[in-house]
Amino acid sequence: MIEISSLNKKFGKLTVLEGLDLVIDSGGIFAVLGPNGSGKTTLIKSILGMVIPDKGEIKISGESVLKKWKYRNEINYLPQIANFPANLSVKELISMVKNLRPKEANDKALIERFGLEPFLDKKLGNLSGGTKQKVNIVLTFMFESELIILDEPTTGLDPISLIRLKEIIHEEKDKGKTILITTHIMSFVEEIADEIVFLLDGEIYFKGSSHELKERTGQRDLEHAIAHLI
Ligand code: ADP
Repeated sequence: MIEISSLNKKFGKLTVLEGLDLVIDSGGIFAVLGPNGSGKTTLIKSILGMVIPDKGEIKISGESVLKKWKYRNEINYLPQIANFPANLSVKELISMVKNLRPKEANDKALIERFGLEPFLDKKLGNLSGGTKQKVNIVLTFMFESELIILDEPTTGLDPISLIRLKEIIHEEKDKGKTILITTHIMSFVEEIADEIVFLLDGEIYFKGSSHELKERTGQRDLEHAIAHLI
């Protein structure tokens, strides 16, 4: 369980998170939504202990994330911007990450699933954005983790890869994992998310199912429901 209480974060004069309270139960898929700049990435990075809040606290399984740095390595995190070393090949990067995390890795099945075999010897700097994103996905899911945080995993993916990603997310959910995801693709959210967490003005503006959100706004599709929520 993730418990966030009275979280505040400012960057200079800009208040990004303000008194944010949120509880995320273990197990299930949670879509973190909100307009650009609403603080989704800041919230995610705070959960990871990569952003230090000005006030407030985040606990995972009852322990503060800032006191327990080891969590950072226990969470499967897909960053929005993957700064891969351009001169490394895909294969070299995967081995490097495997060496950093002495856990059993399931990279081969994922490489196959995303059709990455022909790219294994290619330099990361020469790959298209979509192919880099598939590498990002392989790196994220190749280890087992109770908590999986995906910041815009759908970016640049072709329709088949989107289906593969959806399958993998569902499989993780079926194993009892907790998945936090940000994305701009509402059909994706509708298909996979158990709950939507909507951020606005530094706070949680709505938390509930897409069905509840549609009922509350009187809209039939999620895109319009979100637009009517604000
Ligand atoms: P979102 O993910 O919802 O688009 P972010 O959390 O990335 O929002 O950013 C929220 C706001 O905080 C934006 O205005 C962004 O420019 C600003 N911001 C984020 N990180 C930093 C930083 N390290 N330094 C200064 N401003 C930042």
